[in-house]
Amino acid sequence: MASVITCDAAVAWGPGELLVLEKVEVDPPMAMEIRVKIICTSLCRSDINQWENKAQSSLFPRIFGHEASGIVESVGEGVTEFDVGDHVLTVFIGECTACKHCLSGKSNMCQVLGLERRGVMHGDQKTRFSIKGKPVFHYCAVSSFSEYTVVHSGCAVKLDHDVPMDRICLLSCGAAAGLGAAWNVANISEGSSVVIYGLGTVAQGAKLRGASLVIGVDINPEKYEKAKAFGITEFINPSDCDEPIQQVIKRLTDGGADYSFECIGDTKMVSTALQSCCDAWGMTVTLGVPKGNPEVSAHYGMLLSGKTLKGSLFGGWKPKSDLPLLVAKYLNKDIEIDNLVTHDLPLKDINTAFELMKKGKCLRCVIHMPK
Ligand SMILES: [Zn+2]
Ligand SMILES: [Zn+2]
Repeated sequence: MASVITCDAAVAWGPGELLVLEKVEVDPPMAMEIRVKIICTSLCRSDINQWENKAQSSLFPRIFGHEASGIVESVGEGVTEFDVGDHVLTVFIGECTACKHCLSGKSNMCQVLGLERRGVMHGDQKTRFSIKGKPVFHYCAVSSFSEYTVVHSGCAVKLDHDVPMDRICLLSCGAAAGLGAAWNVANISEGSSVVIYGLGTVAQGAKLRGASLVIGVDINPEKYEKAKAFGITEFINPSDCDEPIQQVIKRLTDGGADYSFECIGDTKMVSTALQSCCDAWGMTVTLGVPKGNPEVSAHYGMLLSGKTLKGSLFGGWKPKSDLPLLVAKYLNKDIEIDNLVTHDLPLKDINTAFELMKKGKCLRCVIHMPK
């Protein structure tokens, strides 16, 4: 029987407050859970958005992080899929494989292990972390900014031992989400025009589908060179434009792009993205997690014209069913992940990673746990 582990974790004590390395107690895994020794975890914009979210101040102290690779340290009662020593990828939306949604073939929104917003584990609605008896909240039921964490066995995917742990963690969220938004949700067709607000792997997904024009919109020109490698063909910095960005896009695309993607989590930008795609069949896919106001406004006439607005969480991928295919594509070099990593930092420098991402200075920063 596993016992409590005391280890280092980067704890956020309040919204927007610098993270502090603390000794935390990590409970043994309960039934159907596994405890994982995290090896690498990458920082995602949604970690930042939720860390800054003052509306959730009751969910602190909290351990963020949801893109991670690690090794199973112990397994809870009833777990047959994993053994101690297995390499795993954690995922922020699980797949129970048995609920109505998992069986539908239409969605990856598992009804049992869906996006966890209360800072606790899905099962008993309690935390597995504490500091001197005080509970520490989880994030997305993953909380990977800790040397050890507990996840539901439905929120982990087994990896072969030869998969590089320091890069594959990106498939936990960011890299997979962008590819899935392009392939599963938008289903981009060959020769089409695409505009992407906030650069990321959507561009690679568009390129691999044969899009002819892929416009990246971002305020940071330093990202352009990296973005080009992923398939961005035109780069627009809104700060350099003296007319609304949607007008620029309309001019470049003869009336609007076939597809537009909002990857930032700015709901005003969703309206801009909708205005940037063409009447009739234009499709806007939104995959950013909203920072503040979650309301979206759009002129009804745009929808009457036939435009569609679709949301994409984890790119429509069902983790257990689909992630092994993406991992194989990565190993085959059919998809590129390594180039997305602009920084590698140890856990103790996690605040630097937050700062880099907040300032838009990095695409992905991988945090390495102490050996
Ligand atoms: Zn399910
Ligand atoms: Zn993420």
